[in-house]
Amino acid sequence: MDPQSLDRLRTAIRDVPDFPQPGIIFKDITPVLADPQLLDLAISGMVGKIGGQKVDKVVGIDARGFIFGSLVAQKLGAGFIPARKKGKLPYKTRGLDYALEYGTASLEMHEDAIAPGEKVLLADDLLATGGTAGAALKLIEMARGDLIGSVFFIELGFLKGRAKLASAGSGEVHSLITF
Ligand code: AMP
Repeated sequence: MDPQSLDRLRTAIRDVPDFPQPGIIFKDITPVLADPQLLDLAISGMVGKIGGQKVDKVVGIDARGFIFGSLVAQKLGAGFIPARKKGKLPYKTRGLDYALEYGTASLEMHEDAIAPGEKVLLADDLLATGGTAGAALKLIEMARGDLIGSVFFIELGFLKGRAKLASAGSGEVHSLITF
């Protein structure tokens, strides 16, 4: 993607200090979603990172990953699979608890969402510490999907989530905008 487009996207991402708790600078992507040109740039940029690899399923993480993941899936001609917070999916699920900075959280996927050997890409809005993405990647492995890697709209480089995912052997990690 050309530097000007990247700059337009970067400028549109709104910093909200002290949300949802003191000390966190929340990266608000809703201004990007609200602008059709920027949304198209964001999705095209993320898809461009995959470089023509075959993808059968894109897994998106609850909740902003549903937006980016669905649009990426549609552009790749792939199916979309939601990885949801505990208790939200109606059919039989496979789940995983994982550690957050404070406490734990849980992600679930339908047990038949991915067939063994399908080529799977993980998509989310933002890579921070990598805890959430790491759990989703484990769920994909548990389903015996053929993991291609992951793609994020934003990466917070200083939190070293990329290293955490790489050390777990979770395929290539791509991001469009790094702060
Ligand atoms: P992680 O620390 O990588 O497990 O981040 C968990 C999730 O929280 C990501 O999927 C993001 O959607 C969200 N998140 C974490 N930090 C931020 C932030 N500074 N701004 C916006 N979203 C965030």
